[in-house]
Amino acid sequence: MSDETRWQDARALRDRVVGGEVSAEDLVGSFLDRIEREGERLGALLHVDRDGALAQARRVDGRRAAGEVLGPLAGVPVAVKDNLCTRGVPTTCGSRILEGYRPPYDAHVVERLREADAVVVAKTNLDELAMGSSNESSAFGPAKNPWSLDRVPGGSSGGSAAAVAAGLTPVALGSDTGGSVRQPASFCGVTAIKPTYGRVSRWGLVAFASSLDQVGPIARSVRDAASVLGVIAGRDERDATSADRPVDDYAAACERGPAGMRVGVVREALGAGADPEVIAAVGASIEALRALGCEVVDVDLPHAKHAVSVYYLVANAEASSNLARLDGVRYGLRVDAEDVETMTARTRARGFGPEVKRRIMLGTYALSAGYYDAFYLKAQKVRTLIRSDYDRAFERCDLVLTPTSPTAAFALGERVDDPLSMYLADVFTLPPSLAGLCAISTPCGFTRAGLPIGLQLAAPPFEEARLVRAAAAYQDATAWHERHPA
Ligand code: GLN
Repeated sequence: MSDETRWQDARALRDRVVGGEVSAEDLVGSFLDRIEREGERLGALLHVDRDGALAQARRVDGRRAAGEVLGPLAGVPVAVKDNLCTRGVPTTCGSRILEGYRPPYDAHVVERLREADAVVVAKTNLDELAMGSSNESSAFGPAKNPWSLDRVPGGSSGGSAAAVAAGLTPVALGSDTGGSVRQPASFCGVTAIKPTYGRVSRWGLVAFASSLDQVGPIARSVRDAASVLGVIAGRDERDATSADRPVDDYAAACERGPAGMRVGVVREALGAGADPEVIAAVGASIEALRALGCEVVDVDLPHAKHAVSVYYLVANAEASSNLARLDGVRYGLRVDAEDVETMTARTRARGFGPEVKRRIMLGTYALSAGYYDAFYLKAQKVRTLIRSDYDRAFERCDLVLTPTSPTAAFALGERVDDPLSMYLADVFTLPPSLAGLCAISTPCGFTRAGLPIGLQLAAPPFEEARLVRAAAAYQDATAWHERHPA
């Protein structure tokens, strides 16, 4: 099959499979061939499951031949971030510590994909244990930005965003704790949705910070992201924090149009701190939304400026506790020694990279006796204040608009030795995460150097339909998302 499938969206590919125009096996085979030709250069994929993917594609073809009704992602190749468990398929989290680990089960979202007749073709590169904003903390080397191979793709779901931007798969799954689907989507010129905490089950997602983690779709259009969200969202008994509430019809919401919606602009976010080219592109997007019938109002998030401090206390504290399970006994790597304590210490010393070690130390410190009140507890209180800021803002508007990231993709190596500048890449994605909201990133322009810029819209909990309603109309009106890297 030729290259014509590369830029087709997931819904078009599915229709071709359902209509019998192409078999799932041929379709998936053509993507696998492309992945084999181009995957290496981009570093976006850690594992390609050719045999498993072709077997699943043949099952889909068999179901079609038997006259069964096919699922909403029939035959669609999907890449899945490598911190989501895939049965019998290596799941490394971009870390040496999980070397050799093959989960005995699929994550809930992977089960959902398969039930929707999607085909998981590959596991994508990520910052080690999803800690990072550039993919450079991956133990297997960074993924690269398809728009410019000397730039980072963002992180931590950089491999997923790069794969989708380069046409290696039409859609992918990532995870987002503080921005990890939105920021890489912004850097790679694609679309991502961070669902409300509790909208998607975390069962089988390797835990980073359990009060923040969510799985989210990355795609080349809002409509594709919405159709994947519809597949993965919903209650799962195995994750007590997954919400027992109906899942909206996101595809229908995409067609509703945003007329009459009120968009709250955080003026502070458009001031100093963001790159002028980002400010200009986001400013133009405000006018585009106005032209689509939205009302634009100013809103204020006075405590959002503390989000980076709060996040790096809360997330690291939770991570230091969650990662205790990676002890050389249960999963992956083990460096043997004369007693258990030494074995665990040596395993963790060899298995974790420097960023993960830094966070475990910071998190453990913040939780330790005498410091708990001063750091962790205080951070939780400020987190509540950030949430209250949004509650007040949403009395005046339906959506809160900011850039996704203050800059376009930075150069590989530029920030690796400066953790603080790395953390600042998340200033705009962290506040909605801490507040438990949902948010979307859509392309909204390009820098003079040809790098994508992202726009973030945030909505109250469980209002994902609002996000896709506004963002789909915005994409129809602007078409930034239709550009592809050379
Ligand atoms: N970049 C942020 C961090 O380093 C967010 C990561 C994420 O969302 N997984 O923690």
